[in-house]
Amino acid sequence: MATLHPQLVAFDLDDTLAPSKSPIDPRMAELLVRLLGVAQVCVISGGQFAQFTMQVIDNLTDVDSKALTRLHLMPTCGTQYYRYEDSAWTQVYAENLTDDQKQRALAAVEETAKALGYWESETWGPILEDRGSQITFSALGQAAPVAAKTQWDVDGAKKTALREAVQALLPDLEVRSGGSTSVDITRRGIDKAYGMNRLAELTGISLDDMLFVGDRLDENGNDYPVKALGVDCVAVEGWEDTASFLEALIPTLQTVSS
Ligand SMILES: [Mg+2]
Repeated sequence: MATLHPQLVAFDLDDTLAPSKSPIDPRMAELLVRLLGVAQVCVISGGQFAQFTMQVIDNLTDVDSKALTRLHLMPTCGTQYYRYEDSAWTQVYAENLTDDQKQRALAAVEETAKALGYWESETWGPILEDRGSQITFSALGQAAPVAAKTQWDVDGAKKTALREAVQALLPDLEVRSGGSTSVDITRRGIDKAYGMNRLAELTGISLDDMLFVGDRLDENGNDYPVKALGVDCVAVEGWEDTASFLEALIPTLQTVSS
């Protein structure tokens, strides 16, 4: 049974709040601002802070500073944490990979992608990215258009093969499927469940009083660890679904807080 009156609502970003790597729709922006008026809000994603800025923060209009202090940003699955303090977004912490871990991760994913024939020559931006706490492989590059990305690995078989082969080379690290064309490498035990646990510690809000909304709560999805943790979850299939859910949820929270 879903938490009726969550104190905090956490969201995945890509395909939950916005289309992959794209800005949120004005309708979603308005709903998030309304939600911030009645609850704490978290956005947690494998992406970097710059992605959060471009997709979410820059598109929130008519939002006051007080509301922004209720927004918790967890890039790279919560290995980084940002809060709005003194009128600016401030990094509270970042837990980065060591140089040795980064070098081994970059080498393993490049060698494996080449061996499997997944190292594309036509790309949009770099294939490999050092996100500090995470190394990310994006088959078509960071800036690939959604249409090209959707076609690259329709059944997910390429990502699974790559993930498994790279994981075998990096037993001390964790290799996970990210977005539609991406594989993320982090320290072991870093996933969205890790981020949600950190969030509970940092805010003092129990996991029982949180609600999580995501598009990949299926067993192979990058949102699944949150469900496995026991947090109440709402599965959506795209941001429009999330918007409909929020339109129903927000009035019930308003009643509680008034
Ligand atoms: Mg998603």
